[in-house]
Amino acid sequence: MNYCPRCATPLEERDHSGRLRPTCGGCGFVYYRDPKVAVAVLTGVDGRILLACRNHDPGMGLWTFPSGYVDAGEPVEAAARREALEETGAEIELDRLMGVRSEAGNPVVLIVYTGFIRGGTLAPGTEATAVGLFGLHELPPLAFPHDEALIRAWAGLQEFPGVAAADRHHHSTR
Ligand SMILES: [Zn+2]
Repeated sequence: MNYCPRCATPLEERDHSGRLRPTCGGCGFVYYRDPKVAVAVLTGVDGRILLACRNHDPGMGLWTFPSGYVDAGEPVEAAARREALEETGAEIELDRLMGVRSEAGNPVVLIVYTGFIRGGTLAPGTEATAVGLFGLHELPPLAFPHDEALIRAWAGLQEFPGVAAADRHHHSTR
């Protein structure tokens, strides 16, 4: 935001309690930058991860799992299902929350779910050129620095389903 939305005066960075915020010298308006909420979903079949090849920057021509920004007023879970359907054609159901990632200086808060495919037909949507299922040892070039770690964490959750089920049972009987 470069101009005051109230009076159109150019905004200037001013200190407010130790943080610089765009401020209007005319009317005193202060612009508070909100975080941007994004959602990602890791899903697949038999330990192979569902990825789409991006047709736009950042990461054009590289692969990543379905992700995107959550619309204001849209439930995060619905956004996850929407992005998966839009980008890959997969109808998914969410399984569990894998984690929430954020970093200093980056406005994006990424909420990561795991899910499973319950229908649909895999086909690239308008934001992808191709979709595919990939094993851990055949991953294509990935779009973002955190992608491989997340995929490996997801694969770890898939690898020993019997142990995980036994572990859950153990905890539930305490
Ligand atoms: Zn103003």
